[in-house]
Amino acid sequence: MDLLLHTPTPDQPEPGKIYDVLIVGGGPAGLTAALYAARAGFSALMLEKDKVGGLMATTERVENCPGCIEGSGASIAQQLLQQATKFGAKVRTATVTQLELGVTPKQVTADGELYLARAVVLAMGSRPRQLNVPGEQEFWGRGVSFCATCDGPFFQGKPVSVVGGGNSALQEAEFLLRYVSHLTLLQDLDYLTASQVLQDRVLSQPNVKVTFGTAIRKIRGNGSVQAVEIENRHSGERSEVPVDGVFIFIGLIPNSGLVKGQIQLDHQGNIMTNARLETSIPGVYAAGDVRCCAAKQIVTAAADGAVAALSAIEWLRDTQVHQTISTQVLAS
Ligand SMILES: Cc1cc2nc3c(=O)[nH]c(=O)nc-3n(C[C@H](O)[C@H](O)[C@H](O)COP(=O)(O)OP(=O)(O)OC[C@H]3O[C@@H](n4cnc5c(N)ncnc54)[C@H](O)[C@@H]3O)c2cc1C
Repeated sequence: MDLLLHTPTPDQPEPGKIYDVLIVGGGPAGLTAALYAARAGFSALMLEKDKVGGLMATTERVENCPGCIEGSGASIAQQLLQQATKFGAKVRTATVTQLELGVTPKQVTADGELYLARAVVLAMGSRPRQLNVPGEQEFWGRGVSFCATCDGPFFQGKPVSVVGGGNSALQEAEFLLRYVSHLTLLQDLDYLTASQVLQDRVLSQPNVKVTFGTAIRKIRGNGSVQAVEIENRHSGERSEVPVDGVFIFIGLIPNSGLVKGQIQLDHQGNIMTNARLETSIPGVYAAGDVRCCAAKQIVTAAADGAVAALSAIEWLRDTQVHQTISTQVLAS
């Protein structure tokens, strides 16, 4: 009998039960892995520390996502969640704090509970890179933000700056333009790296200004943000941009700290995988923005989730066959 395929799934996740596939992180990569594992009849548990949907859920207008013509990132996340749970995937809000991946079964500690799994998919995504300048921490939540969708409405009729020049920065700038009086884009390079279509949409607005070759030196305020102190990288000239809000979109750092020292990472902390998304530990897979060389898009994260789950399923089947043959040999 194929135990893996017929393990009954309880209504609630059970600490102590051995899941076939345990997924760490509930962004598009984790949700898709949960969907594929559950739909194939395997018991799947996804642990997400915050809102299901990950970074995708923080964006109001999703671009470059096939079929997602209407709807925010949060609404796509809800649909993905419904799809995965419909097929029996279990989802729990819990922060994974420890992983023991080299043992059988693999051990995952989340909110003080121990979960066991035959295979693990690491889909912890990434977090926004910070400027590390004076004032950034002090005014975090009081004018400094990493999420336009969450905080944009607080800046109705007020001037803000957006730091960055890539797709995320311009997408979020476009969203902020619904609310703000003026928007100054502060870009350290001498050009923007966002797609041309986004640049055209944002820069054609009359209340948008761009300053290139800009280093942020300080975020200044009194209780809340009042200005950004900037320096021209070429001339060294310093000036101030008076703003009520500073939105920072300057890249992402992989959330791989949990597996540092256990799993092979690249020099930037991304988890190394092969084309089947296998990591350096058998039965452990990585998917989405947390892995090396990811395109850092919703569609590629979801595709990774599918590949990782399919690879895990194949590995579980092979392991099961191997165990069955070993047992038969011992019994004969
Ligand atoms: C502002 C912004 C706008 C964007 N817009 C677009 C767009 O329009 N189109 C597009 O294709 N892409 C867009 N992206 C990129 C896209 O959101 C990401 O590429 C995608 O969300 C990555 O998916 P993921 O599942 O790998 O990781 P994430 O979405 O980052 O999800 C990872 C999840 O893991 C959870 N997690 C981390 N550590 C733990 C732990 N220890 N325990 C439990 N859970 C944990 C996190 O809470 C998070 O929910 C945007 C990104 C940003 C920042």
